[in-house]
Amino acid sequence: MSAVLQDTAHAKTLVSLRNLNKHYGDFAAVDDISLDIRDGEFLTFLGSSGSGKSTTLSMLAGFETPSSGQILVDGQSLVNVPPHRRDIGMVFQRYSLFPHLSVRDNIAFPLTIRKVPGAEIAKRVDAMLKLVQLDSFAHRRPAQLSGGQQQRVAIARALVYEPRILLMDEPLGALDKKLREDLQDELRQLHRRLGITIVYVTHDQEEAMRLSQRIAIFSHGKIVGLGSGYSLYQNPPNAFVASFLGNSNFLRVTASGEGAAAFEGSPLALRLTAGLHPGQPALVMVRPEKALALSTEQAAREPLPAGWNQVSATVGEVLFLGESQTCHVVTAGGTAMTVKALSAAGMPMQPGDRVEVRWAVADACVYTEWAESDLSKAAGAH
Ligand code: ADP
Ligand code: MG
Repeated sequence: MSAVLQDTAHAKTLVSLRNLNKHYGDFAAVDDISLDIRDGEFLTFLGSSGSGKSTTLSMLAGFETPSSGQILVDGQSLVNVPPHRRDIGMVFQRYSLFPHLSVRDNIAFPLTIRKVPGAEIAKRVDAMLKLVQLDSFAHRRPAQLSGGQQQRVAIARALVYEPRILLMDEPLGALDKKLREDLQDELRQLHRRLGITIVYVTHDQEEAMRLSQRIAIFSHGKIVGLGSGYSLYQNPPNAFVASFLGNSNFLRVTASGEGAAAFEGSPLALRLTAGLHPGQPALVMVRPEKALALSTEQAAREPLPAGWNQVSATVGEVLFLGESQTCHVVTAGGTAMTVKALSAAGMPMQPGDRVEVRWAVADACVYTEWAESDLSKAAGAH
């Protein structure tokens, strides 16, 4: 699950975004974002295309000016500080290397324009070449490198003047899956070794999970979830985050009392949920891997444990996915659910089988407010 790197939970705030807005005409690309970025953390902005991630990052870098709001670093406003004075390095999806310069000169460039003495430049570039494991490619031109190697040059160039903050906007987006995963591992190690603050942008939830200590989930210019990948996945703060991050089953229920509800006319136990009163509609969310499907006979033999729910359903489709299997079922009232189990556990279900779907009350989230569009994966898709 979420990468466990050094613990930054108690680290001080390095960057504060306060009520940050960016409007284009009357369209809010970034809509009143407030966020504290901790010193030394790896924080990822995750969201679908157009959700405002790059615009927020560009304001931090200084390429865009906020329509309103503040950006503070160590409590000092950055808004009138030009990009090259911000102590921030930046890596984009397109490598933006200078094609006519060697790898060495590309990496040296930020130091050359800052008029750092030659001997110092040589020393620091050598260290960077080693860091990104391109020592033996120093004299090549960018066109003589693979995509992954070019991106490592871009990372080295962003790090060579030792910025406190590294911003990366979909830096691995143009690479194929295997290379992307290798570079993700390298980036994690780099972050651990250097201890700098990294703010990373991606629309790929698996990448966000692999890399980040914390993830900020963007939707329509707002941050709608913030926390470790683990906590956002296990306890999504709202139905949008639940459906955006991983797969989820949503059951429409009506609250009937404390910790109780009706689902398709049958009683269901709920987590105690603040502000939920009898008669109120609510949404119960169960992850597919937290649900079990038992055949009717098996369910008759194994009494329902305390603190669990059970609903009857009919198996629609069973998909074997190698490591895991998913079973699509439909309840009597027509609610579709997905149950996922490790293949090792066996899944003797067949289409048409009657099953009992069970889950622990503690594993199901309850939402009292949501938009219908939150519930479809498509709404969060890239
Ligand atoms: P993301 O990086 O999450 O894909 P962006 O931050 O690039 O999203 O864009 C957020 C929204 O702002 C998009 O709808 C985009 O079309 C809009 N936008 C970005 N830049 C401009 C611009 N210069 N003029 C008008 N609209 C823009
Ligand atoms: Mg973008």
